[in-house]
Amino acid sequence: MARSTIDSPPRGGYLSWLSERILPKRFVAVPIELGEVLDRFPEGFLIIDGRFRILFANEAICQILGVSRDHLDGRSVDSLKWCTSMPRNRPWHEVLHTSRLANVTTHGIPIAVGDEQLMVFERGDRSRRLLAITVREITGLSIPDVMVISVRDATVAETYRAEMEDLLARVRRSREEAQQCNEQLRQLVTQDALTGCENRRSLDEKAESLWNTSTNEGKPLTCMMFDIDHFKSVNDNFGHATGDDVLRCVASSLRHTFANVGQVYRYGGEEFCVMLPDHDLNESRSIAEKVRSTVSHLSVPCPTTNEVIQVTVSIGVVDRKAGAMTVAEMIDQADKCLYMAKRNGRNCVVPYGPEVASAKFRSTDR
Ligand code: GH3
Ligand code: MG
Ligand code: MG
Repeated sequence: MARSTIDSPPRGGYLSWLSERILPKRFVAVPIELGEVLDRFPEGFLIIDGRFRILFANEAICQILGVSRDHLDGRSVDSLKWCTSMPRNRPWHEVLHTSRLANVTTHGIPIAVGDEQLMVFERGDRSRRLLAITVREITGLSIPDVMVISVRDATVAETYRAEMEDLLARVRRSREEAQQCNEQLRQLVTQDALTGCENRRSLDEKAESLWNTSTNEGKPLTCMMFDIDHFKSVNDNFGHATGDDVLRCVASSLRHTFANVGQVYRYGGEEFCVMLPDHDLNESRSIAEKVRSTVSHLSVPCPTTNEVIQVTVSIGVVDRKAGAMTVAEMIDQADKCLYMAKRNGRNCVVPYGPEVASAKFRSTDR
């Protein structure tokens, strides 16, 4: 026979409704008509006394625990197969303990103690259920220490929640992996593998936007070109691999110097370019001078000959006041300064000026 249930919880939940309206007034030894009412609840209820003996079990709790009402009647609630907690930690023990400590004197008003607590129960067929348990003491009755235990079977909800959490964690992981892949891809596309500097392609992309920002905000922008002097002879004398070590060493020094102010791009073989926002020609010139001096003091060991290699750089510097109309023109101006630095004997810094502007260079000048 289909059992009719009270499906939607009354305001404040079944337990409040039960304990506020019915139990205090009518409970003596759970009269038959009250039992009938409780049997209509979809939520499980046990009513126990101060020695934790079951005075009443509704039909829903019998179904949740997988036992008959006769099996529960008069039995200690602690003798049921709870898997998770020691008896003294079980919520009905805590409620009784708390209420005795508090020396409750309320009349007929149910006392809410604690929140819902999750406990694992093992049924006769060894299947386990996760139960959400709330315990309240009912005062003002002829029998002392009566408690109502409401039990909600949270197994499905909890399994669903755990599955959702697992799914979310997997989504999060794969998003992180995708971000890592994107970052690796970005590095592959924009970074130079040998030196770790940004590559020429990245310069082409970013120079335009630096130029536009400087135009829009009316702020200075300088461009510096660096070229290692007589680098071919390093390769010739010490081998290409050692030449690579020198390139890495110079690049690392440049990146260290410009770490917080500008990006270092590998422009070509042994040439580097730096776009420096918010610095005028004088400021950039003195940074360039510092770089020149630092590089000239670097020592790179040659693993095959045990010799120490030292190199120098020539540097060209230009800012917007030189009159470039585009960022490409500005880079060309810096390149011309570099030609002039080579012509002037290398290992020096040449800022853009009338002399550079009027000079004619051939590609063999560098
Ligand atoms: P200058 O002072 O006029 O700049 O002389 P240079 O010898 O530095 O210039 P040049 O253009 O004659 O030679 C540049 C050399 O840089 C030639 C090339 O083999 C070398 N080079 C370019 N890229 C790399 C690289 O990735 N690794 C190594 N080891 N050498 C490279
Ligand atoms: Mg060169
Ligand atoms: Mg060179």
